[in-house]
Amino acid sequence: MLPMAESRTVNEAEGLIEFIDASPSPYHACSRAAEMLQRVGFSQLEATAEWPEGGSHYVSHGGTLIAWSTPRRLAPSSGFRMVVAHTDSPNLRIRPQPDLTAQGFRQIAVDVYGGALLNSWLDRDLGISGRVVISTSAGHEVRLLRVGRPILRIPQLAPHLGREVHTEGVRINAQTQLVPIWALDRSPAPTFSDFLAEEIQVDPKQVLSWELMAHDLVPASLVGVRREFISAPRLDNLGSTYAATRALAEHAGGAESGAQVAVICLFDHEEVGSRSSSGAASSLLGAVLERIVMAQGGGRDDYLRALAGTICVSADMTHAVNPNYPERSEPGHPVRLNQGPAIKVNVGLRYATDALGAAAFTAAADRAGVPVQRYVARGDIPCGSTLGPIIAAQLGVDTVDVGMSQLAMHSARELCGAEDPGYMVRAMSAFLGPDQPRRSLPEARASGL
Ligand code: ZN
Repeated sequence: MLPMAESRTVNEAEGLIEFIDASPSPYHACSRAAEMLQRVGFSQLEATAEWPEGGSHYVSHGGTLIAWSTPRRLAPSSGFRMVVAHTDSPNLRIRPQPDLTAQGFRQIAVDVYGGALLNSWLDRDLGISGRVVISTSAGHEVRLLRVGRPILRIPQLAPHLGREVHTEGVRINAQTQLVPIWALDRSPAPTFSDFLAEEIQVDPKQVLSWELMAHDLVPASLVGVRREFISAPRLDNLGSTYAATRALAEHAGGAESGAQVAVICLFDHEEVGSRSSSGAASSLLGAVLERIVMAQGGGRDDYLRALAGTICVSADMTHAVNPNYPERSEPGHPVRLNQGPAIKVNVGLRYATDALGAAAFTAAADRAGVPVQRYVARGDIPCGSTLGPIIAAQLGVDTVDVGMSQLAMHSARELCGAEDPGYMVRAMSAFLGPDQPRRSLPEARASGL
């Protein structure tokens, strides 16, 4: 008998594992999230079309997806309860002209995307995924590509040929020592573009462009003698992406009354600064929120009033205390696996958490029976950052940065607790749901909090 408490906890751990395995790239993550939402009645809207009043919908733009559920009988200025997360993870991206030949090998050139732990990509069987744009008689078409066979490999140097590894550790030059091999030069290996055309079964001339990346092929799994952990790639931040999608799916169709519009926004490009047409620093989210208000018959004033009554939960993974490096965590704020989401605070505003946002999330977690931890970085280690400060600054909304805890963040293979996905889904669902006293924050302000 496994000790993991409720079946719901087990289900969410298994749901996250399935989601991660189905989402080797941000485009696949959006596609999978869209499928989960469609199953409960959400429909896709085109950004170029007119939008209907109310309902449960989503729009997608590359590796970004925004979805919302509008309660019935809602004033256009009622505001939003919003959860944001990101779909991208540090990894290796295929260069535009990747074909290389060296020392009898055929190799594929890659660039490092985000702050990847380079050593974690060595000696792994790697597949390729992403999106390819092909020309068609009607113009062009975007195809998702997922090659689940092991075709790329970056071999480590044997210590016999580099004894300094024992004293200095692994040092990797990203230009010269991180180039995957995929064939011997003697074999009739295809060029990368011929390979692509064959994989998506089109003429090579039809391949116009692509964004492709390597991914670890070992399936995500429950590990540990009591299966208390999830071992997986891309936990940062598919852990939060999955939880946000599951939580919104519970509010399909919208509540009858007493609620605001429940929104999730799953952004691409967080790991490289968020400044893109689909990143958190773009105008995309504000435009979608304003159009939701306008579709309900509201105007600019209603939109600005709606923002004034909005709270945003920014969800990104956070660091649990690593037992082999306890001195790297702030001793007064230890964060542990399987003890619930952590609220992240930084006085330098590397996290956007303010007292009102933190109070709203804590209250939601309380209603859901979910424990909450507090994360603060050490005073002598610079703090990371995430989507929260960007959203708070773009929209001027009260924001709280939260996250499930994990170890080995930015490794090709990360580790989190198996009970935390269930906790996070429940806390987010309570936050998005109608139980939250509407306009609680303005009321709190009025009462001098
Ligand atoms: Zn992240």
